[in-house]
Amino acid sequence: MEFNFEEFKVQGTKFNYYYICKRKLWLFSNGIAMEEANDRVQQGKITHEHSYKIKEGNKEKLIDGLIKIDILEKENIREVKLTSKMQESDRMQLLYYLYYLKQIGIIRRGTLNYVKEKKVEQVILTKEDENKIEKALEGIKKTLALARPPKVEKLPYCKKCAYYEYCYIKEVQ
Ligand code: SF4
Repeated sequence: MEFNFEEFKVQGTKFNYYYICKRKLWLFSNGIAMEEANDRVQQGKITHEHSYKIKEGNKEKLIDGLIKIDILEKENIREVKLTSKMQESDRMQLLYYLYYLKQIGIIRRGTLNYVKEKKVEQVILTKEDENKIEKALEGIKKTLALARPPKVEKLPYCKKCAYYEYCYIKEVQ
């Protein structure tokens, strides 16, 4: 059966969180927003605003109120990150953007720019990636349908997560 994208499409941040932590995805989606207070997120915003030279007209584009593309060029979309610590979720989010654009008739390649490390990764959407994205979108829907958040998972980046106190102080103690 053909995948019905309209039924499954989500915000780019949620897609990213699915790859970071399903609990984080659930908390964020249920209005428990703590990201503004988080240093790493703030740092990321500063990266976008100051560390990368963006030509006028190519700046951040919000599509359907769901995906926010850092830089939209003629043949390429570019995402700017501070470091490559979350490379897999960054890559999947960019692939999701490429997939999303394809659904609305826009074909692009992707580039990940890691500012601190001066590293660049090229990303091309393959059929295999498309299948992976559709499976992830189904997984996101299932996670969001849960009545309670998934359990705390001890992940290497928990201490840097905006929900750290929420997960480890409110619930574990
Ligand atoms: S602190 Fe860890 S378990 Fe809690 S939401 Fe963040 S990444 Fe997930």
